[in-house]
Amino acid sequence: MDDKQQFSMWYFVGAAMLLLAIQSLFSMQRAQLLQYSDFQTLLHSGKISEVSISEDRLTGTADLNALGRPMTDFLGRTQSAEQLNNHTFVVARVPDESLVTDLRAAQVKFSGRIENRLLSTVLSWIAPALLFFVIWTLLMRRMGSGQIGSMMDIGKSKAKIYVQKNLDVTFADVAGIDEAKLELMEVVDFLKHPERYRRLGGRIPKGILIVGAPGTGKTLLARAVAGEARVSFLSLSGSEFVEMFVGVGAARVRDLFQQAEKLAPCIIFIDELDALGKARGVIGVAGNEEREQTLNQLLVQMDGFDTRSGVIIMAATNRPEILDPALLRPGRFDRHVAIDRPDLKGREQILLVHAKRLTLSPDVDLAQVAARTPGFAGADLANIVNEAALLAARLNKKSVQMDDFEEAIDRVVAGLEMRHRIMRPQEKATVAHHEAGHALIAEDRPTADKVTRVSIIPRGIGALGFTQQLPTEDRYLLKQSELLDRLDVLLAGRVAESLAFGEVSTGAQNDLQRATDLARHMVTEYGMSRTLGPATLQNVRSPLVTPDAVNSLRSEYSEHTAQIIDEEVRRLLTDAEQRVRVTLTAQRTTLDRLAQLLLQKETLDRTELLAVRAETVANAH
Ligand code: ADP
Ligand code: MG
Ligand code: ZN
Repeated sequence: MDDKQQFSMWYFVGAAMLLLAIQSLFSMQRAQLLQYSDFQTLLHSGKISEVSISEDRLTGTADLNALGRPMTDFLGRTQSAEQLNNHTFVVARVPDESLVTDLRAAQVKFSGRIENRLLSTVLSWIAPALLFFVIWTLLMRRMGSGQIGSMMDIGKSKAKIYVQKNLDVTFADVAGIDEAKLELMEVVDFLKHPERYRRLGGRIPKGILIVGAPGTGKTLLARAVAGEARVSFLSLSGSEFVEMFVGVGAARVRDLFQQAEKLAPCIIFIDELDALGKARGVIGVAGNEEREQTLNQLLVQMDGFDTRSGVIIMAATNRPEILDPALLRPGRFDRHVAIDRPDLKGREQILLVHAKRLTLSPDVDLAQVAARTPGFAGADLANIVNEAALLAARLNKKSVQMDDFEEAIDRVVAGLEMRHRIMRPQEKATVAHHEAGHALIAEDRPTADKVTRVSIIPRGIGALGFTQQLPTEDRYLLKQSELLDRLDVLLAGRVAESLAFGEVSTGAQNDLQRATDLARHMVTEYGMSRTLGPATLQNVRSPLVTPDAVNSLRSEYSEHTAQIIDEEVRRLLTDAEQRVRVTLTAQRTTLDRLAQLLLQKETLDRTELLAVRAETVANAH
């Protein structure tokens, strides 16, 4: 039934009920309401001519004027003049055994009346039900497409499957991850010439799982495979499978595979597979049941599936370790393609791909930009290129210049410049000494990354200044001496403050946190404590629901060891602080000069920093 019809029906019912009520009111209004004693008086004086008896009242006609006083009607109004001739009355019935005898004695015509109670009975049942229904429909409407509303669409499976044909993304748009591309070439080839593979009877992998950190280009790569092979691309995010109601996700999976079979050759791509494929039996909240059913359906569909139909299933995740092992078994997602964060060369290539659309000034050196962005993923680099273009556009430049890139990196690394944040001179001096301390120690320690910029312009939410260091190369392993040097650099800001002003400020909080984390890792994970020796000592969180789930967060070591760990961490930190204090005391003149210069210029680059060092060292000799 559509809404309009429903509504006119409501109006009709309402109007009918209103009419009924009015009518009964009017019929009552005409009769005079008598008291039973009055009725008896009238009866005994023979003024009553007719009575009809019903269960709860007596109605009839009588010469009411005989009572000799004004009457009140049913609504309590005093009778008006023209109503004086009105002879009908009504009186509430009271238990009176002699009623019939009296009536007979007075020779009154009387009759019983069976009242039609059907209407009132029906109404007393229907009215509350109707009220209920009205409230319910209103609620439903209010919820709109909300949860209760969608209860109606369970069967329909409005799966958000995105089907894309003729994607214009190709491998040329994906840079810096050549191994992954190479791996997927085979898939592209299969999708292009399926008959060649069919003839030879080779088994093409059914499911391909792309694994990599966020922003490394997993989604991009999957789309590129479809674009390169010129096949349809059916994509769906793992989180979209899992719905409020049990069974919906499973229906979606079936839907997805049915569509795919029609569109073959094509690629099914499940993004964020971990949302759907978490290991079963892990402690979880409600919705587990639904997720499990969906996952099971996916497994069933994948098993009953023949790659020769020309459909390839791809999925992406950044948390492969939490996936249900059943998903990774042969015949399912058995081919894994790992994407690493890009190295120096890779970063340059990615920057190139994205910078192609821009007009670059000749002074832009993308290799330099790549060198300043170790650890950045493809998405971060795309972001930097975009920021640089926006900055150049805002300044109305004809082309994007190197300083736009510099500023874009600073923005992405440290947040927006807050030039207008007003700081008291004393605060500025503290920040200047703090950053000068970081910079000097970074230059002094042999393995520390070299400083490219020091700035005391506040940035982002927390940073009041920053010292940017540039690693000379990508690192995969760090030696103990290098970690110690890192600790020194982290603590240097705080030590510089205390040397210059005799006390520390809250500005070093983040440094302290990072230093403490690093020291703890050295002790508990890298086995770099002499006292504790070569062992890893981590808290282990058991992922499974065990009878003793209470103990699921437990230590693998004793209380005593925990104490030693704390002592060792503290020792690493105080030792580092001591070393830094020695160095900075020896270089006190350089420290003060550097801070002074920072207060003047706010930002110093590497050459300026080295100049200050050379100058003060020369003076000392
Ligand atoms: P993920 O799915 O791994 O989180 P995306 O594929 O969504 O990452 O990447 C987001 C964006 O970052 C892409 O649209 C693209 O612009 C850029 N990007 C990421 N990796 C690369 C890469 N290797 N080459 C070119 N661009 C990349
Ligand atoms: Mg993605
Ligand atoms: Zn600091």
